[in-house]
Amino acid sequence: MLEFSTPVKYVKGIGPKVAEVLAAKGIVTVDDLLHYLPFRYEDRLNPRGIAELRPGEMATVIAEVRNSGSFRTSRMPIFQLTAGQGRARLRCIWFHAHYLQGKFKPGQLVALYGKVEQDRDGVMQIVQPQFELLDDGPEAEGDAAAKAATSLEIGRIVPIYESIGQANLTPRWFRRTIRSALENLAPDGPDPIPKAVREHLSLISPREALWQVHWPDPGESFADLQASRTPAHIRLIFEELFFVELGLELKRRQLKAQTGIAFELTPAVKAALIKILPFHPTAAQLRAFKEIANDMKSAAPMRRLLQGDVGSGKTIVAFEAAIVAIENGYQVALMAPTEILAQQHYFSARKILEKAGYRMVLLTGSLENDRKREVRRHIAQGNAQLVIGTHALIEEKVEFAKPGLVIVDEQHRFGVMQRLKLMKKSGDGAQPEKQPEPDVLVMTATPIPRTLALTLYGDLDLSVLDELPPGRTPIVTRRITDERSDEVWQFVRKQVAGGHQAYVVYPVIEENEELELKAAIKMHRELRQSVFPEFRVGLLHGRLAAEEKEAAMRGFQAGEIQILVSTTVIEVGVDVPNATVMVIEHAERFGLAQLHQLRGRIGRGAAKSFCVLMTGGKVSEDGERRLDAMVRTTDGFQIAELDLELRGPGEFFGTKQAGIPSFVVANLIRDRQLLEAAKREAAAVIAGPNAEYSQAEIDLALRYMRARWQNAYGLVEVG
Ligand code: ADP
Ligand code: MG
Repeated sequence: MLEFSTPVKYVKGIGPKVAEVLAAKGIVTVDDLLHYLPFRYEDRLNPRGIAELRPGEMATVIAEVRNSGSFRTSRMPIFQLTAGQGRARLRCIWFHAHYLQGKFKPGQLVALYGKVEQDRDGVMQIVQPQFELLDDGPEAEGDAAAKAATSLEIGRIVPIYESIGQANLTPRWFRRTIRSALENLAPDGPDPIPKAVREHLSLISPREALWQVHWPDPGESFADLQASRTPAHIRLIFEELFFVELGLELKRRQLKAQTGIAFELTPAVKAALIKILPFHPTAAQLRAFKEIANDMKSAAPMRRLLQGDVGSGKTIVAFEAAIVAIENGYQVALMAPTEILAQQHYFSARKILEKAGYRMVLLTGSLENDRKREVRRHIAQGNAQLVIGTHALIEEKVEFAKPGLVIVDEQHRFGVMQRLKLMKKSGDGAQPEKQPEPDVLVMTATPIPRTLALTLYGDLDLSVLDELPPGRTPIVTRRITDERSDEVWQFVRKQVAGGHQAYVVYPVIEENEELELKAAIKMHRELRQSVFPEFRVGLLHGRLAAEEKEAAMRGFQAGEIQILVSTTVIEVGVDVPNATVMVIEHAERFGLAQLHQLRGRIGRGAAKSFCVLMTGGKVSEDGERRLDAMVRTTDGFQIAELDLELRGPGEFFGTKQAGIPSFVVANLIRDRQLLEAAKREAAAVIAGPNAEYSQAEIDLALRYMRARWQNAYGLVEVG
């Protein structure tokens, strides 16, 4: 008998070697194996007759091998297989497929899957089909075990698994192995999902779900199977999301139960707020600040995400929160993901908060050691009221005398795990007496679709700035090939001559950093010397020394630099309202979110702004979609949705560094509705016990969550 927790090596057909290969894919236990779901299914119950195939359709055909062999064309070697059903013939071809030589024997049954085409002579063919040999040839005939196994391959809806090449773990291998694991599985314990939840979503039992997802009943809707929408899929997907949400919800409650600081909104606070505000806040800013102030007043620690598109005015809201803490006698830490952004915040803070006379320090990795020590001392002695910095705030041993509020900007760059680390740091610091938990405000410019925000930041409350400050004229965005760069420079010249400033941005991606950096530096020289000799042209990139970066930033901010040639280091946070033009070279190489962030650097003042996307060379299909989207809309949420679709959630957030949970069966794009439901249900369960959820059910769900899900999601660190 196998338990869910049994190591896979005890499953029939898995030896220590294969177990190792599986482990590398994250399949360690029987449970993992059973959650290795088919990525598609083949309808071998009603396979298509060759005669009824239509060009353009995806089809599964079961036919007999007639003949096969390879030949060369002038362009490449081709392997051809002719398969038949009675008199009907289907041609299959593969390119560069030497490995197929001798693979097919006449008379063998083969399942073929792919897109049907009709060639010029009217012959039906499938190019590069996926295939599976359904019998092992005459030698195996009469072998009862082989026969039984073959019955898993035809005459039914057949699951197709991603094969794992290394150990030759084919779909067929998975079918047999998973089947055997299912057959030998010990009986189920009680369902860990509370009954009321199951009823709300009409969930089937876990055992049935596992059977059906691997071995669907003949009557199952094929469309639902392919869309992962059968009752079996829904059960498994919901289960995964539900327990993650349960963990997040629990964590949120535990945080809330800790002792935080009950800041007071004293007359001094109000006076300071009025004194510093340089403009009328937008309705969205007012609402967000009110939500933040309410959290800060409460004795429970604040954990809030402030989400707002680029230019929506998050900074001032953050400064308002800082004022509340500082006027109450506490220190504030503001963390930015890059030195440049930290500096930018430092400038803004000096400009805006100077009026209130606060003591501020900047702490970044590139400071001289002596200076660092001095700054740290200021912080430790409570001298510094507002501390602005980068990672250095986490990495270096920085101790706050009286931490009250931590603001983390541009969250997507830090990643979830780092966020947790910072929160802990300020709480369980080495101070002699236990300090209350500081409040935490996380700011993100990534317009994360709401459902995703719910999962990724499910332990945070959410405030959204869904409105831009008044007086913005929409940015005009155009695409142009770099053959017409002369026209572009002419346009830039007009704008700059008119008193505005411009960015010229070059892509520098890590893989090619040296080369591309050289290109950017070379272009800077060319623009400065040949194209715009009459203007002051500056250069900013990540490899410059801190002072040089600061000088460039300061120069641009002060208007001394009129054209800033830059790499993507300006992507986040830089705020120079007089800059009205942005030229992005090789725009096709940037990701959509990045383009949007970059463009967010302009359109910040009252003057009309222009973004020119220059492309060089061939643009891929996805590249086209990105550029189109940029020209079509400036709405960050629309752009984020498309970006998410193009890249998938993992890449969208840079998963690996960001520590975002990677789901086993759920897919955050496809399963948004289930995610919402899971969130809702988890909150209701945690709020129990009550008439719907008994204490015993809640305990069982929590036990299960801890035992099986906690490790899988570092995010769910619940005690
Ligand atoms: P982001 O949300 O991208 O961090 P910022 O806080 O940098 O946006 O604000 C963008 C620009 O808008 C800044 O120049 C800021 O001074 C200005 N701004 C913010 N709020 C308002 C407002 N209510 N009215 C006018 N201008 C504003
Ligand atoms: Mg900002």
